[in-house]
Amino acid sequence: MTKTFKATCPYCGTRVYLELWGEGYKEQKETKSGGYNVAAGFCPNCDEFIVIVEHGEKYEETQSDDEAYEIDSTKIVFPKFATGRTLEDGIPEKYSKNFREAEQVLEISPKASATLSRYLLQLILHEELHIKKKNLEEELNELATQKIVSVNLAKMLQVFRKVANFGAHPKKSSNSNEIIEVEKGEAEIILDLLEELFDCIFVKPKQQADFLADIKDRYGIEV
Ligand SMILES: [Zn+2]
Repeated sequence: MTKTFKATCPYCGTRVYLELWGEGYKEQKETKSGGYNVAAGFCPNCDEFIVIVEHGEKYEETQSDDEAYEIDSTKIVFPKFATGRTLEDGIPEKYSKNFREAEQVLEISPKASATLSRYLLQLILHEELHIKKKNLEEELNELATQKIVSVNLAKMLQVFRKVANFGAHPKKSSNSNEIIEVEKGEAEIILDLLEELFDCIFVKPKQQADFLADIKDRYGIEV
């Protein structure tokens, strides 16, 4: 059985048509008339291995093929955790590692993801930018004042701080270990914001430095 899935590759994050080979399995309980399709193969973009399991309400056995249909759920079962976001070069490992963790737990626990994201945000503020205030609200204000990031990004980070309710009072916002109540969508947005923060602090400056170094090599112009 060949199955075609339109999916986001869990490795490279590209929207791809996956052509996977698989087999159907009829549900064994007499009360159930559906079944499962298990399909596996390689992403056409990054060549990594993917396994998908889908469940169908109905099951059909024919001479050539057995297949579940009227599909009501499709799950990527391998790799176990998606790391679909592509991080650019230039991000120090201690930050990218934390980001990957926040990304990996997103599916099973948005709360854990947002908590890791907040930890990462504070780590960057404290250790990279040397911004240390009595709470996150003040630290983000300082980030905006120093014009390290765009006005919009600074505003978005403040909005997120309010949504996730860290910083409702100083004690709460200064405690990085506290669990945050959020939905999956919100936890995803903070990952987007962190990616933008990476971009401003690490990626763009590195690209600009590389560009200037290249100009110097080629034309002998020093800026
Ligand atoms: Zn891929």
